[in-house]
Amino acid sequence: MNNRKAILFSAPSGSGKTTIIREILKRFDCFEFSISATSRQPREGERDGVDYYFLTPEEFERRVSEGMFLEWEEVYAGVRYGTLKSEIDRIWDNGHVIIFDVDVNGGMNIKKYFGPDALALFVMPPSVEVLEQRLRSRGTESEESITKRLARSAAELEKAPLFDVTIVNDILNDAVDKTQVVINNYLSR
Ligand code: ADP
Ligand code: 5GP
Repeated sequence: MNNRKAILFSAPSGSGKTTIIREILKRFDCFEFSISATSRQPREGERDGVDYYFLTPEEFERRVSEGMFLEWEEVYAGVRYGTLKSEIDRIWDNGHVIIFDVDVNGGMNIKKYFGPDALALFVMPPSVEVLEQRLRSRGTESEESITKRLARSAAELEKAPLFDVTIVNDILNDAVDKTQVVINNYLSR
């Protein structure tokens, strides 16, 4: 298998992409997660260098100005997220396939960068109402953060057709099964 491959998951926040990625990582051993950098604070249980590289806004800016990012976005006002170029080499040097979890704009930029070599997946919630319920039930966001996330979701949902495959995440197990089939097709290509 050619290991210089990459799969990206994008979706409005709360759709379930992190949950699906976690299940996919259990079913395959060829993947390694691209650890993004962010200027937001860690949530309870999140670890630096595992979930994200947590950077101060100043350190994030320094890396932007030194051209260290493949892409970055101010996903929410005042909060930046980005993919460090060094992640690509780190994961490919390990002989693994990259998995990205990025916002919808970041996903489109990464897809443009890798072209047909990457598989771009869009995780679709069954409805906007369910998306809101999931964001609330996750219990990680303030009311302000939920409002910001929902405000972005309509424009993000419209971009689904630009991705290679849409996975509707209604029943989790069905969504993970479908994702597994799509990934197997891609890996055997
Ligand atoms: P994202 O990474 O897209 O922001 P998460 O994976 O954190 O979303 O999921 C948001 C919340 O919804 C979490 O509490 C998660 O447990 C829950 N969730 C994810 N998928 C499903 C599903 N298919 N059915 C019910 N709850 C789900
Ligand atoms: P969260 O704060 O919930 O961890 O992530 C918020 C959003 O930022 C999610 O949509 C997530 O996919 C996105 N995100 C995480 N890392 C990156 C990245 O490296 N680049 C971009 N563009 N978005 C990212």
